[in-house]
Amino acid sequence: MTTGIMAAMYDEIAGLIEIISEQDQSKICRVGRRDFHLGQLDGQPCVIVLAGIGKVAAACTALTLIQQFGVREIVFTGLAGGLAQQVRVGDVVVADRLIQHDMDARPLFPRYEIPLTGLAELTVSEPLRRRMQDAARHFFEQDIQNHISSTVMTQFGMSAPKVHVGMIASGDQFIGSANTAGRLRTELPCALAVEMEGAAVAQVCHDYSVPCTIIRTVSDRADDSAHIDFKSFLDQIASKFSSAIVRNYLSATALPP
Ligand code: SAH
Repeated sequence: MTTGIMAAMYDEIAGLIEIISEQDQSKICRVGRRDFHLGQLDGQPCVIVLAGIGKVAAACTALTLIQQFGVREIVFTGLAGGLAQQVRVGDVVVADRLIQHDMDARPLFPRYEIPLTGLAELTVSEPLRRRMQDAARHFFEQDIQNHISSTVMTQFGMSAPKVHVGMIASGDQFIGSANTAGRLRTELPCALAVEMEGAAVAQVCHDYSVPCTIIRTVSDRADDSAHIDFKSFLDQIASKFSSAIVRNYLSATALPP
């Protein structure tokens, strides 16, 4: 069973692409201006692809993975802004449902509802979500010190990162002001984090009956300082979280329950 692995930014999947590229059997197929890397990761056939940023980029990449490469499940890994108060920089959020915070076709359809689907929230596969949650928990409990030094953790104000499970809100907007973040918190009090792709992937996967799981490392608090340290957080923390957690996920059968 082939797993599709997607991210919005290269560093989020660079480590995984590097492993695949070293294999003799690996190959790259270029479709729609994207490189799809085919190979094996931890014994699992995978297709890894840089989708690009935003909902359209994510949706068309997910569809290519499904239709052209026949993937049977999709994993999306990346960064997000923390919205809920308890969600801090360095924590991880695994989506159990997603919503497009910028979907608003009123008065034709209720706020957030995806027109003609009757759906506002998209739920994701529970077995995959649990597997991802366990993979992240395992990483924090057993593995994190092998990947990230305590000095780097302290530099980003991280002490004991947590795994949260709940709603992720997606939209074609980088949320980098306390006002906008505050408005989203009021309008979507259940949303734990905000990003720009997850709900689009979940919508395509819903339409094509392909299970998906979305995991996000919290890079910022979606406030006025959201852009500061974005790149160095990605380099030093999130890229390592992504690779290690996705690998734990793929080799989940080897994990303790
Ligand atoms: N490359 C730009 C920012 C990229 S956009 C820079 O260097 O500043 C942000 C990416 O991270 C998107 O893929 C989005 O899904 C996620 N993300 C992280 N924090 C976010 C936030 N506060 N609001 C929206 N998306 C966020």
